[in-house]
Amino acid sequence: MPELPEVEAAAQTARRILAGRIVVAVSTHHPSQRRALPARDARRIAGRTVVRVERRAKHQHLVLDDGAIVAVHFRMNGDWELAGAASPLPPFARVVFTLADGRRLCLVDSRALCHVAYHPPGHPPQLALGPEPDALSPEILRHALARRTGAIKTTLLDQGVVAGLGNIYVAEALWRARLHPALRAGRLTDAQLRALTRGIRAAIADGFARQGRYRGGAEARPFKVYDREGLPCARCRTPVRRIAQAGRSTYFCPHCQGAPTGARYPSPFSSSTPLR
Ligand SMILES: [Zn+2]
Repeated sequence: MPELPEVEAAAQTARRILAGRIVVAVSTHHPSQRRALPARDARRIAGRTVVRVERRAKHQHLVLDDGAIVAVHFRMNGDWELAGAASPLPPFARVVFTLADGRRLCLVDSRALCHVAYHPPGHPPQLALGPEPDALSPEILRHALARRTGAIKTTLLDQGVVAGLGNIYVAEALWRARLHPALRAGRLTDAQLRALTRGIRAAIADGFARQGRYRGGAEARPFKVYDREGLPCARCRTPVRRIAQAGRSTYFCPHCQGAPTGARYPSPFSSSTPLR
């Protein structure tokens, strides 16, 4: 699934190709995309200039010169691909934006789960999102987590708490903050909130620096714990563990992220899986 750094890299691609240019035509190439972006909406986009491309969490907004917004969400595995005027459309092109010079920016998505929708002028998309990671502070995080009784790992995946965090960067942030993923979200101490704020911002900054894992930077900047079950922790060499929380894999170091003495937290483990 594209996470925030992948979507930010994609939004930069869309910005570079579309901003300031006229979209002469939009076409849809799959029934689900035709339902979300019917022909009458595609016609409203045609002839408009894209004045800017904004990213909010994992949403990309193409802002048109009449104030309308084309909202794009990659969902599970969408991405942008540019096709030259003379080249065929790439495989799995679902929505295609054609420019005046004949080049086409294609939303490619093998599973066809991506979502593109037109929002007319004055009716922007309503997004129920928490603050972006770069806008976080310990105070904002405390407010967002207050009264949350679930595990911190699962709670941070809620887009209303922090916008744009997914499974990878929550694991990376908790490792940086040395917090056990099962700690109760609403009971973090001031020191833990400070560490988590730093951890989230650093994990996302690291992801932005590698331009997302789709663009070849992953080898140079490997993840600290994500997808590293059994491999040594980058800090203490203890083998990284994987557990399941709310049906998703969580990776953590059982030494660096051990439960603080005396802390109470809901156990996500089955009785056959001891904590240490
Ligand atoms: Zn460790």
